[in-house]
Amino acid sequence: MDKSAYKNMWVYVEHDGADVHPVSLELCCEVRKLCDLSGDNLIAVVVGELPESELNKIRDCAVDGILFVSGTGYERYNTEAYANLFTVLCRKYNPSAVFVGGTTNGRDFAPRFAARLETGCTSDATEVIYNPETTDIEFVEPAAGGKIMAVITVPVLRPQVGTIRPGTFKYIPAGQKAGIEELHEKICFDPEKIRTKFLSFEADAFDPELDIANEDVIICVGNGLADEASLQRYRDLAKLLGGKIACTRPLYDREILSYKLQVGQSGVMVKPKLYIGFGISGAVNHVTGVEAEKFVAVNTDPDAPIFHYCDYGIVGDMDEVCDAMIAAIKAGKK
Ligand SMILES: Cc1cc2nc3c(=O)[nH]c(=O)nc-3n(C[C@H](O)[C@H](O)[C@H](O)COP(=O)(O)OP(=O)(O)OC[C@H]3O[C@@H](n4cnc5c(N)ncnc54)[C@H](O)[C@@H]3O)c2cc1C
Repeated sequence: MDKSAYKNMWVYVEHDGADVHPVSLELCCEVRKLCDLSGDNLIAVVVGELPESELNKIRDCAVDGILFVSGTGYERYNTEAYANLFTVLCRKYNPSAVFVGGTTNGRDFAPRFAARLETGCTSDATEVIYNPETTDIEFVEPAAGGKIMAVITVPVLRPQVGTIRPGTFKYIPAGQKAGIEELHEKICFDPEKIRTKFLSFEADAFDPELDIANEDVIICVGNGLADEASLQRYRDLAKLLGGKIACTRPLYDREILSYKLQVGQSGVMVKPKLYIGFGISGAVNHVTGVEAEKFVAVNTDPDAPIFHYCDYGIVGDMDEVCDAMIAAIKAGKK
């Protein structure tokens, strides 16, 4: 395969007709950096209608072009129409890479169209690097149960397809470029060929307390927690610091906190200014989900691996340290 015949990097813009999914904006910002290194154009692929205000958020990510797709079959997400759409588009335009948010939908259709194109797809990457020598993208992802970080490339095939974990990158728009190219495609998929039928839509009730991805202060509680009754002090500390409570997987397994509060490889990625981890051992599966400006860890075991990751480590009983922090903050506020 002549890799040089494949140009430009695409980002699939997932949306619900009203709002762009944050992962698509995060991806546009990150892939912009890759394109600056590779000399490719960054093209956002928008399927269906979006309000102008949302389109401007995409334009603000310094995209070089937007490929608008219309046609039948895309009103609601379905595997068949979306997998077909990207197969058809990639065959026509030959992009070098296609980036898809690692959402439920993205993880469903990305490997399917990659398989139809007989190319490679990396799932759930948490880092993407452009290698100027090989011109390949290195997709980095936790592997072997999170024990290693695997670097995966698609060295001889194109396009390089990857799904990227939501919350991995930051939405820091570089600003609109002049003369953004607008391409329009109409590709119809026969609705009769969609094997699932839409019956009704029921949205998850939104609970702001469970929305931790963009929180500046995270008080994370681990398996060192004695019981549910001990949790209140951590909620109090989070409140005092203007943050939210989160947890490791065992606290979800023990049915003490919601899965939506689980930080880590199979949970939420957080990028707070301050993260305080109480009673957490420091498993890779957990710490891989934390990118904090200041990382504080509290553990009774001075050899706990978490002390390798933190800026400040406190060897001590988690409840006692939490109570002391609360007392110090309250004293400071007087
Ligand atoms: C494929 C895969 C994906 C995973 N994904 C995730 C994920 O997304 N998020 C996640 O969190 N985990 C994940 N895990 C699980 C992960 O490997 C660890 O098992 C988990 O993170 C451990 O949680 P913990 O540190 O709270 O518990 P433990 O490992 O049990 O550690 C508890 C710590 O508390 C300390 N402690 C005990 N009592 C006290 C006290 N009174 N005061 C202070 N310290 C005390 C102990 O010294 C110990 O270090 C995953 C595992 C796999 C295999």
